[in-house]
Amino acid sequence: MDTSVGAVSAVAPTGSPDGNAAPKSGSKTGDNSGTETVRSSSTKTVRPTFDGDRAYGLLTKQCDFGPRPLGTPAHEKLRVFLTAEMKKYADQTIEQKFDYRGMPVTNIIGVFYPAGASAPAKKPVLLLAHWDTRPVADGPFSSESRGSRFVYGAQGWNRTTPIIGANDGASGAAALLELARLFKQRKPDVGVLLLLDDGEDYGDFKSDQGRGEGVELGSRYFATHYMEDARFGYPDFGILLDMIGAKNLVLPKEQYSQNHAPGTNSKVFGIAEELGYKKIFLYGETQDVGDDHIALNEAGIPTIDLIHPLPNGSSSLGYRYWHTLQDTADKCSGASLKVVGETVAEVIYRETPAP
Ligand SMILES: [Zn+2]
Repeated sequence: MDTSVGAVSAVAPTGSPDGNAAPKSGSKTGDNSGTETVRSSSTKTVRPTFDGDRAYGLLTKQCDFGPRPLGTPAHEKLRVFLTAEMKKYADQTIEQKFDYRGMPVTNIIGVFYPAGASAPAKKPVLLLAHWDTRPVADGPFSSESRGSRFVYGAQGWNRTTPIIGANDGASGAAALLELARLFKQRKPDVGVLLLLDDGEDYGDFKSDQGRGEGVELGSRYFATHYMEDARFGYPDFGILLDMIGAKNLVLPKEQYSQNHAPGTNSKVFGIAEELGYKKIFLYGETQDVGDDHIALNEAGIPTIDLIHPLPNGSSSLGYRYWHTLQDTADKCSGASLKVVGETVAEVIYRETPAP
């Protein structure tokens, strides 16, 4: 995510407090006017339980591959592992491949049919997380970042040491793979796309006037190409998981999400509160983060970002190991992964198919 933003402040949410928003247009070309439709139900669901310990095991397994940035052997090995895992659970597993500066970039997408169906949903729910890790330790609290700069080329970066990315990378992918197990065990009524997107954390977040170059590659590619494959349907809304595994996890509402998908934000935070997670899903705080949800919202898929605050702000809530060599598995816990996993599972199992 973007290093240029991330301040956390106590700001009242700006979205619709009741979660209702204008109906979504049928256009697949999309718009970015926050045209989401939110259906909700208070019916208690019968569903499998999210196993935090298993999710944590999937987190450490990814870390065991070492740093996993684009263009490295470890990245390629992890791709093979994640695709094999997804195939255990999804009705279809699709690798969406493209190149960036000569390096292969791969979105790994699990398609889960709705309960009782034998084909993909036309309007599935999209859950996503990036699986690559940052090739440089350039976070504000990194001892390595002083004087380093980003240089593209045959050697990739003029690199400092690449990070392990336990929280920033492995945590979201681990949660999605555990959710995949749940969805196979008991099909939700809605179709689901699990998108493990690649190349979120590769490039220079500060270039292109803060929009970033070489970053958020997989989400940008999916947002502009998903309509070419009918198996992806037209996602109804999306939830991005990024850095959701820290022991001291907190999740303030993210402002861009609140502006573009306020109803989804309200639904997710409301269910988190019902489940007793209000101390982690912070209502009175917001943050502003550039991340994979931007491209999806621009493509007309209202998508929120559940993300631990970055450490740039004045708040003490930030994950200080962000983009440092200390972003390792000991900073994370299965309990935190379970908070997010249970919340997302409850959202999905309560969801009724979009008309
Ligand atoms: Zn990152």
